[in-house]
Amino acid sequence: AKKHGGNRYVFFSQELANQNERVRLIANNVVHALANQEYFMVYQPVYDLSTKKITSYEALLRWESPIIGQVSPVEFIPLLEESDLIIPVGRWIFRQVITQIKLWEEEGHEDFHVAINISVKHMMHPDFLYDVKSIIHEMKISPQRLIFEITETVAVQNTDLAIQILSELNILGVKTALDDFGTGYSSLSVLKLLPIQQVKVDRSFIVEMEQDGEKSLVILQGVLDIAKNLGMSTVMEGVETPEQLELLRELGAQKIQGYLISRPVVAELAIELRKQTWLH
Ligand code: C2E
Ligand code: CA
Ligand code: CA
Ligand code: CA
Repeated sequence: AKKHGGNRYVFFSQELANQNERVRLIANNVVHALANQEYFMVYQPVYDLSTKKITSYEALLRWESPIIGQVSPVEFIPLLEESDLIIPVGRWIFRQVITQIKLWEEEGHEDFHVAINISVKHMMHPDFLYDVKSIIHEMKISPQRLIFEITETVAVQNTDLAIQILSELNILGVKTALDDFGTGYSSLSVLKLLPIQQVKVDRSFIVEMEQDGEKSLVILQGVLDIAKNLGMSTVMEGVETPEQLELLRELGAQKIQGYLISRPVVAELAIELRKQTWLH
């Protein structure tokens, strides 16, 4: 038994060592990912339940490391945010997405929006608004195409500055969305505080809805109603099954995003999906 226990200990510590090694590899290599052109963007459609059309896309960052392979943004975005790397990477993402929007406009596509995830640190950077304005101006795209997704942590550090920047974005014509709604602590008060036009309801609501039933359903209904009554549009994240979609439709959900419609895909595929006739 002693030997067995010893082996298990060895097994777990080996697993831990592998995990530490991965974390170390990611930290060491993410520093060069931008310069080495290892990033690319994918786009996940957002589907409107009433018009049965894809109305927008969320742009999501991907890192394909030649040494580590595909690394999830969940693993490396926090590292970029800890260092100041999120600023140049954020700028690159912005330029990348604006270039894509320009291309789609030139191809004649109309009535679409693209959402970009904005790190709080990037948004609070003194150059942020200037950067945004100059790239939009340089590329001559319509600012109305853009949605900036931010999380509620934006309101924690410097609420006044956050309100000011978000308002300026709105004046430019850029829409603002509150991402991961319901995962933090102050979600409801943030809705009241910040100038935002859209609420993205976190996937955890759907998971809980199916696990604990009635109570979670009532809460989700409440969230959708509150957002609607505040004049904000809603996007339900992480919809994976037709059953979930039907339930959400009954609750009055407007827009959905999730694997049921499509996974995040490269731009060419994403825009193709708009031609498809949707039955949901
Ligand atoms: P997020 O902003 O909440 O993005 C939604 C995440 O949910 C994406 O993961 C997406 O692939 C995933 N997802 C979409 N539909 C489904 C579904 O039906 N089921 C499940 N289980 N998952 C679904 P991803 O791309 O791995 O991104 C993770 C997080 O990394 C994002 O969460 C966001 O916080 C961050 N991130 C990704 N791209 C960027 C970026 O360009 N800039 C910044 N600042 N953060 C980013
Ligand atoms: Ca997001
Ligand atoms: Ca989200
Ligand atoms: Ca998230």
